[in-house]
Amino acid sequence: METIFTKIINGEIPAAKVYEDDDFLAILDIRPVNFGHTLLIPKKYFVNVFDAPLDVAAKIYPVLTKIANGMKNALNCDGVNIYQNNGAAAGQEVFHAHLHIVPRYEGDEMRF
Ligand code: ADP
Repeated sequence: METIFTKIINGEIPAAKVYEDDDFLAILDIRPVNFGHTLLIPKKYFVNVFDAPLDVAAKIYPVLTKIANGMKNALNCDGVNIYQNNGAAAGQEVFHAHLHIVPRYEGDEMRF
């Protein structure tokens, strides 16, 4: 299944990479909801939480921790929201699994 994220992982279209290892790629979101909004994308293709391979699921939290701490150091944010939209009814638009990591700053106007 080809998605925009498969093309980014394969280097066919550009993206602003913030992290990469053998299993994951993190890029800046093209339409950030806050400064530093990042997407963590598993390189192995699956759609969302409903078909997530357990080996990928088991590896993702340490990567989230690394990126969240990197954001805190690099952006001096005060907090971080981490979320995933699963299914069209939940707002998922790109059907290649990804987590949103959104830095938060004291007094910012964001609402979830
Ligand atoms: P939603 O758009 O409702 O957040 P998703 O959870 O499926 O739906 O998120 C897809 C995300 O991918 C969006 O935040 C969108 O801005 C982002 N996006 C789409 N195309 C690109 C791209 N080429 N590079 C970076 N981010 C992208």
